[in-house]
Amino acid sequence: MITLFGKRIRLFRPRSIWIRRIVQWFFFLLITLIAVNHTLVENGVGIPFLASASLHAVCPFGGVETLYTFLASGLLVRKIHDSSLVLAGIVLPLAFLFGPVFCGWVCPLGTVQEWVGKLGKKFFKRRYNHFVPTKLDNILRYARYGILIWVLYVTATSGTLVFEAYDPYFALFNFWSTEVAPTALLILGVTLVLSVFVERPWCKYACPYGAVLGITNIFRVFSIKRAESTCKADGACSIMCPMNIEVDTVKTVRDHQCISCLECTSEAICPVARTVVFTAGGVK
Ligand code: SF4
Ligand code: SF4
Repeated sequence: MITLFGKRIRLFRPRSIWIRRIVQWFFFLLITLIAVNHTLVENGVGIPFLASASLHAVCPFGGVETLYTFLASGLLVRKIHDSSLVLAGIVLPLAFLFGPVFCGWVCPLGTVQEWVGKLGKKFFKRRYNHFVPTKLDNILRYARYGILIWVLYVTATSGTLVFEAYDPYFALFNFWSTEVAPTALLILGVTLVLSVFVERPWCKYACPYGAVLGITNIFRVFSIKRAESTCKADGACSIMCPMNIEVDTVKTVRDHQCISCLECTSEAICPVARTVVFTAGGVK
């Protein structure tokens, strides 16, 4: 922090934030490369040193979608690969340890919503991410569990990847292909437009995989903890939270919507050192 012409200017963003940005960019570029190369391979001009994997092969939610079919018959739902089960098997234990880090650090759809949200933040300032009336917002946040149940039910009973026709993640990285259903493109478009007003609208209200991972917030080992003794009660942590969690009113964040982004911590925004921390232990 330096003072210039009477203004305090932050020269560097805090460390944890930079690391998250780099990780998000890495996975965004990786998934883009995989999606583009898959199309190139289909046209006979794939990049030689890259695998020809489809997006389905690198989506851990596919492992959740096919779980019933796999347990019942040993088979996978068509288009889902073994790798999806492996990825799901990695992401879930990670979530039990650290919470939904997949959402906050890896998922490129979450990242893209954040990028669009920067426009909204610039335009609406403090009003951004506060447009949905609280009562409605509280109800809508459980809709993703309904969507999860529907996806699991229709996948299990039909044996096909029904969610593909509605999946904005698949549409985002395949919008140039005829494989993408118009419904998925429409949902992607609505998600991106809403992101100008609400931070991560798909994650908050609709994502079935976010719903699965969100449950781990109740049991996770490492969580966001706030030291009441040093808290200045200025609400900075809550204002910063993309999921509108009122961090400044709890000792431990157990909210099902936390995405482990660490934006509320003392490393990032809380002005008091070691007051909002990501830990498996306790705080004073
Ligand atoms: S909630 Fe869904 S879309 Fe959002 S970051 Fe998590 S997996 Fe991605
Ligand atoms: S509580 Fe903290 S870690 Fe969780 S979503 Fe909000 S800002 Fe991110």
